[in-house]
Amino acid sequence: MPDAPSAARYPDRVRAHSRTDVPGHDGVARLRRAILGWYSGAHRGFPWRGTTDPWAVLVSEVMLQQTQASRVSERFPPFMARFPTPRAMARAADRDVLVAWSGLGYNRRALALRRTALAVEASGWPSDVAGLERLPGVGPYTARAVAALAFGQPVGAVDTNVRRWLVRRFGLPPGTPPRALQALADCLAAPATDAAQAADWMHASMEFGARVCRARAPRCGACPVTAGCPSRELAVHVPVARRAPFAGSVRATRGAILRQLARAPGHSLTAARLGSLVGGGGLERAMVALERDGLAHRADGVVHLGPPGPTATLATIGP
Ligand code: SF4
Repeated sequence: MPDAPSAARYPDRVRAHSRTDVPGHDGVARLRRAILGWYSGAHRGFPWRGTTDPWAVLVSEVMLQQTQASRVSERFPPFMARFPTPRAMARAADRDVLVAWSGLGYNRRALALRRTALAVEASGWPSDVAGLERLPGVGPYTARAVAALAFGQPVGAVDTNVRRWLVRRFGLPPGTPPRALQALADCLAAPATDAAQAADWMHASMEFGARVCRARAPRCGACPVTAGCPSRELAVHVPVARRAPFAGSVRATRGAILRQLARAPGHSLTAARLGSLVGGGGLERAMVALERDGLAHRADGVVHLGPPGPTATLATIGP
């Protein structure tokens, strides 16, 4: 549940400057130049940066949705080595993908990724936002990120970091509707003159929010767009959706079950053995949820990784 927007937590100085209109042409150009200049000299060298391969971009964006960048940077290379193309994943079983995904959390992402691989193998890559959004498990944010990073479309994407810096830098109320933020992000992305610039801006905008306009301790002294920022030195709180506590949750038990199954011989364990390895009181509830999501199934007292029955494949995939 997101925090309710709190006007009281939003400083008067910012509220006085609040505006929901987009900056003028000169303002956009100056701001883009400053942030792109900062990015060119300060960005981190993650393994997914610099690629325009839509599959690699999609995999990295799906991983980054719920997993820290430092963790993704360890897991992304071996995952891509195992599934370097949509075809490689489409030809694997759901179970293989779940094993490779194990430990990254939110495992339904892995099954959605495989469904996307099947769709791409069947019909090819869409290159615009609307087409990308129709891929299984690809939401508006991921579609826009892939459109910019892989296909050079001059569109903006608003993740938590981008939302925070837009709200602060433009003095927007914390309850600014997502559509208004998206319009602002698109306005800032639009002047890209080529595909490389569109991708650079997408990376720069995300990196700026993550490393300069940080949630708790914004680095206003090192900020390339500090001039004219109504939130400067105020560490303005921008509410984010809160996750439920992980420890002791059904999600934690689900993750523990999947990790045990991923490392077990044949990716199966008797229910009794699984119970002894995972323990806790929420096992049945977690198993029901895993079966519902197609992440595990039970048969004759044995728990198996993945959905029951043969894995979905494409008849058109050759040997
Ligand atoms: S001056 Fe501070 S609050 Fe304003 S955009 Fe820069 S880092 Fe964020």
